[in-house]
Order: sequence, then C-alpha cells, then structure tokens
Amino acid sequence: MPKDYYKILNVNKNASADDIKKAFRTQAHKYHPDKAGGDEAKFKEANEAYQVLGDPEKRAKYDQFGSAAFDGSSGFGGSQGFGGFSSRGGPGSAWDFSGFQQAGGFEDLGDLFGDMFGGRGGGRGQPRGSDIQVDADLSFSESVFGVNKDIEVTKNAACERCAGTGGEPGSGMKTCDTCKGSGVQVTMQRTILGTMQSKRSCEVCQGTGEIPNKICSTCHGEGVERKRERLSVGIPAGVDDGAVLRVREKGEAVRGGRTGDLFVRLHVKHDPRFERDGIHIHSQSTIGFTQAALGDTIEIETVDGKGDLKIPAGTQSGSQFRLRGKGVPSNRGRGDQIVTVEVKTPERLSREQKKLLEELNLKT
Ligand SMILES: [Zn+2]
Ligand SMILES: [Zn+2]
Repeated sequence: MPKDYYKILNVNKNASADDIKKAFRTQAHKYHPDKAGGDEAKFKEANEAYQVLGDPEKRAKYDQFGSAAFDGSSGFGGSQGFGGFSSRGGPGSAWDFSGFQQAGGFEDLGDLFGDMFGGRGGGRGQPRGSDIQVDADLSFSESVFGVNKDIEVTKNAACERCAGTGGEPGSGMKTCDTCKGSGVQVTMQRTILGTMQSKRSCEVCQGTGEIPNKICSTCHGEGVERKRERLSVGIPAGVDDGAVLRVREKGEAVRGGRTGDLFVRLHVKHDPRFERDGIHIHSQSTIGFTQAALGDTIEIETVDGKGDLKIPAGTQSGSQFRLRGKGVPSNRGRGDQIVTVEVKTPERLSREQKKLLEELNLKT
C-alpha cells in the first residue's frame, strides 16, 4: 500500500521544512520506544516519513512520483519504482530498486535527538560520502530486456596517491594529537539536567586515533580528489520509467568513511508502437474490412521483432488478441502482448468495389 508521508507526520502538502521538522519531533517524542506508551512501529513510520520529507530533494521526488512511486503492481513484484523507500538488495548484486537509502536504523535520529536533548547520546558514527543522482535514458526495448549503460560521473574519489588515507605514502603514522589516540572527543555540556558528557568520533583522525606524519601532496590530506569516472551500470530487464537504481558505494568518497551511493534515475523513451502496462505491452494493429470478415494472418511488431497474428474470420473492431510471453520479463515470467485490432472501413471505393458491396448488402 502506498504510504502518505504527509499524513503520517500529520502535516499538509505545502508544509514548510520547519513545520515538517517540528511535526516529526512531536511524533518522535510521542512514540519513542524508550518511553512509556511508546510505539516502535509508529516511531519507525514517522522516521521513514521524515527521512523523505525532511530532505528537500527526496521530498521533491516523493511529490513528483507520489503514490505511483510505491506501486508494487508492476514488474518485479513491488521492488520497482521506489520500492517503498526501503532498502532491498537486488538478487546477489550491487543494485537494488529502492529510491532512497534506508535510514540506517536510527542513525540519523542520533543527531536529531542529540540536539533535542542537548547533546545527549552517542556521537556521530563514521562519516559517509554524499549520494549522487544521475539520469539515464533507455529505449523501450532496453527497458524491457535490460542493458549495460555507461555512465559518467564527476565526483570525489579516493586519492590515488595515498589510497584515500590522506597521508604521504611511506611517511608513516603518528598518534593523533587531538584525541591522544583514543579516537574519541569528549565534550562536557551544561544542560538543565546537569552536566552531560558527550562523546563523538574524533574529527581529526576520523576515530582511528592515528594521523599521518606528513599529509599527501596530491590531496593535501583530504584523502579524495575530484575525478571523472565512467562506469558500466547493469540495468536489469523489466525496469519501468521513473525507476531509480541504486549502485552502492559509487557516490562521493570521503576520507575515513563509507562512500556514498549512486542513484540512477531511468527515463524510458516513448515508443509509438508499444504502450507498457505493468508486465504487459499493448499495441494496435489495423486490418481491412475483408480481412476482418474472412480472417487473415497479419504481421505485427513485438519487442522480439516481427511476428504473425492470426485474425479469425468475423473479427470485430476493437477485438483484443493476447500473445503470451511477448511482454516484459519479471520474476513471474514474461508478461503478454495485447494487440487491439481496429477494423478500417474503406473511405474511398472504386465503382466496382461499390457495386460489389451494394450487391452484398451487408446490414445488421
Ligand atoms: Zn592523497
Ligand atoms: Zn583523533
């Protein structure tokens, strides 16, 4: 079922970013599982909604694709489109169909609660590089059968000279001065509840406790460099227009952390011959008067190439014929092609044709 994130957070569609944040906090306070009377399911649901609506980019996508983004009726049984914003691993591969990365437990909430309760709770985890979104155009046939697409992205990639460490190769490591090797920075904070200690991963050494003796001359210690990278993304068969493919760890790299993900939004070009309907494909064919009355075999276009369609005698205009297995591949097998046949009534007749038809005197 499509989820209405606005409803979940109890805000209207044009709520400001601030309103959404406030609404989420209210819900989170109310349902926090650690609280008496908390409700974990509702808490998670609110969190899920906030992950999307709290991010302007994700919110725009959600607004644009609405509940269609959650439509599980087509293709791969629900894993297409945005797949409900949850992370679903593709079968043994690096991609999946989910639009957005899952919240990663309550990772992001740590921050929110952090500032809600005045710095309580654990610090941030490992840094994570940003995600990148790119668009890719597919022909109708590519969307049906899958294709390998070359995609170019300009991004922060691990520095080649220092392999992402930020240290000059061979210079060795020393104990981090900032955290004295503990990898943790402790700060004391006064709050209404008394002095609170907050721990966070050391920003200088990224929690490793060590820093290089000499910083890398190429990246100046950043561990990353701007690069144009070309990669081949395997687009699986049966993807629909608007689907978003996630390629893990092909986003922006960050020193001492996990590389972000690459999201590839797929745009399927319109093909005048075919219309997609979930795993089925619709097409139209026109036949003549005599063919409809007497029957015939006509040539039709399928995604597999040209094929024959037998028209039985007495075919009415608007009749539909199903070609099994000529549709879109899915994990339930291939869908069908449905051909709608239109009988064309002749507009201009020769004198002879006219005479023959008059003799036939076909009346219902
Ligand atoms: Zn470097
Ligand atoms: Zn440190």
